[in-house]
Amino acid sequence: MDMIYQECAQLEAGVTFFIPGVGEQNIKFFIIASCTDKPAQSLLTNMVSHNANYSCAKCFTEGENFTIYSKKVRKSTIKVFPYRNDEVRNNSICNNLAIEAGQHGSPVKGHAGLSSVKIPTTTSRRFRTIKHIARFKANEFRSLMHHGSTVLLQAKLPKYRRHFALLLAAVNIASKDIIDNYDIILVKELLHQYVKDWQKIFGLRHMSSNIHSLLHIHESIQFLGPLYMYSAFNFEG
Ligand SMILES: [Zn+2]
Repeated sequence: MDMIYQECAQLEAGVTFFIPGVGEQNIKFFIIASCTDKPAQSLLTNMVSHNANYSCAKCFTEGENFTIYSKKVRKSTIKVFPYRNDEVRNNSICNNLAIEAGQHGSPVKGHAGLSSVKIPTTTSRRFRTIKHIARFKANEFRSLMHHGSTVLLQAKLPKYRRHFALLLAAVNIASKDIIDNYDIILVKELLHQYVKDWQKIFGLRHMSSNIHSLLHIHESIQFLGPLYMYSAFNFEG
């Protein structure tokens, strides 16, 4: 990742190319999109950790602390993101916040400031049996979702099946070869309902950063096209 980071910085500063018929040209390159997991996303976008306040790179949802009491670990605190429609981030606001964070030397509304840039690492795993579902990676959940969920969910109450169907429908529409505006609206409606119902069914304790991010899938497909075009599942191992 260090090499990739250094090269990105070099490309952003500009590289001189010789173009036949034109001559020497200094061309700058900027990252406009990337496929990453949550920790790597925070690092590449120079945002605070995905478990911190204002960690969503798409909107200004703040998140709140949720305390868990259990026998194993008496008391622990996690970050949850209650269902809300918060203001969406844009370039001009975020540029100012990033400058402010750099000047203060501490995060401002999720922007970490230049001193906090770190390099992510990646891992790859072999496919495992369903016994290890608690530790499944995204690739394993993908297979389970598309090939095994209809059988497994027979054992669950209809309200869970209906809820899961929202996600399955949204993912399938968002993965179509060609996506139109109607599909984007449909994906937004399905996933907003899914996240809203998730909070009702599973409670605030499970409104994690990953669940909150589903509210922004329609923005990604509007900006970059169908999900399969930038799927990172192959990198999950
Ligand atoms: Zn958000």
